[in-house]
Amino acid sequence: MRVLVSGAGIAGPSLAYWLHRYGFEATVVERAPALRPGGQAVDFKGRTHLTVLERMGVLDAVRARRTGTTDLAFVDEAGRELAVMSGEFSGGDVEILRGDLAEILYDRTADAVEYVFGDTITALTDTGDEVRVEFERGQARTFDLVLGADGIHSRVRKLAFGPEADFVHHLGRYYCVAGASRWTDTSLPRERARGFAHNTPGKLAVDGGSKAQQMYMFTSPPLDYAREDTAAARRIIETTFADMGWHAPRMLAELAECDDIYLDSISQVRMHGEYTRGRVALVGDSAYGNTLAGFGTGLAVVGAYVLAGELATAAGDHVAAFAAYDRVMRRYAKIAGNSNAGPFLAPKTAAGIRARNWFLGSRLFTLMMKYGDKAANDIDLVDYPSLIRA
Ligand SMILES: Cc1cc2nc3c(=O)[nH]c(=O)nc-3n(C[C@H](O)[C@H](O)[C@H](O)COP(=O)(O)OP(=O)(O)OC[C@H]3O[C@@H](n4cnc5c(N)ncnc54)[C@H](O)[C@@H]3O)c2cc1C
Repeated sequence: MRVLVSGAGIAGPSLAYWLHRYGFEATVVERAPALRPGGQAVDFKGRTHLTVLERMGVLDAVRARRTGTTDLAFVDEAGRELAVMSGEFSGGDVEILRGDLAEILYDRTADAVEYVFGDTITALTDTGDEVRVEFERGQARTFDLVLGADGIHSRVRKLAFGPEADFVHHLGRYYCVAGASRWTDTSLPRERARGFAHNTPGKLAVDGGSKAQQMYMFTSPPLDYAREDTAAARRIIETTFADMGWHAPRMLAELAECDDIYLDSISQVRMHGEYTRGRVALVGDSAYGNTLAGFGTGLAVVGAYVLAGELATAAGDHVAAFAAYDRVMRRYAKIAGNSNAGPFLAPKTAAGIRARNWFLGSRLFTLMMKYGDKAANDIDLVDYPSLIRA
């Protein structure tokens, strides 16, 4: 079977790996001209995520490039510590720069899978027997299946399911990540490895730490700007944080020299458990994205594992495989479904900031961490690779 995967982020190369292993012919089309670096560090939590990475043969490579997983200290204008968010909460069992992870997954598949960079799908026609695909640059081709792993603003979802506004819900805040974290060297002394965060009502700035060199978050209605336009993103941050004080003037001066900037809204994808339609399926953020909820990357690799495994189990019968995938992920993806990191990280009021700081030091926070760990493992992971060998 010929399978087209749209997107070479995290879900796309993970799908390509498994599809190839099960004997499907996979092609990955990526809009960017090359593998996209950047983004903050992402993390994997619990044995389910680690098992999937291990079965893909990348766990050791991921561990070898892990970050130092730093704590984040929330401080006042004068630098006095108010609360601490532990690195275990934000960095899970293993934390790695998103760009490093994308590179590991790509390297694992590049020899066996056709990658087409610098192109994108413009039209999909599902005839029932196959899908005819038109591209912006390349010749039209037909595939047996098309899988959308093209992120929260998925083109495949738009073409096969409908407009983004029907599925992607803006949660009232934006976030911006700039520059790769410097804390990728685990030999650095732990006590130096700390990020600092400062809030004013509706705003958060993070200076250093293992997630990124800088991070910003702010309340805002939907903004009109081109997402790929780094200069526009920089201007938005400069304007929004011009009056923050604290480290912000120095951070904005550094931002002026930085080209590795990623700005997007904090949004939730709500597909109501229907991630497949006809011969098209969605995986990763395109299907169950929830910005900064802490599970996006784990969900992407688990979703790819389940979808490819179900296709192999059903010997390519996509109707049976898609139904099983929808059923499994409908339940598992709920872990990312309902939370919104925005109000926690950037409360709208001074009272909200004080309450969050209190919460971070309370037993409730420990309970929340435990719940997150439990939810990340709440799936009966089928050993698809061994089923195939049998
Ligand atoms: C550059 C970048 C930075 C990120 N930074 C963060 C971050 O700081 N914090 C965070 O929580 N999440 C971030 N994310 C999202 C995070 O990677 C995902 O939540 C998660 O890892 C799930 O991965 P995914 O493969 O589903 O989506 P993504 O990692 O978003 O990958 C989607 C891929 O599809 C490609 N693509 C998009 N549209 C098209 C199209 N029309 N045709 C072909 N290809 C297309 C994209 O270029 C990208 O390579 C970032 C994503 C990217 C691409």
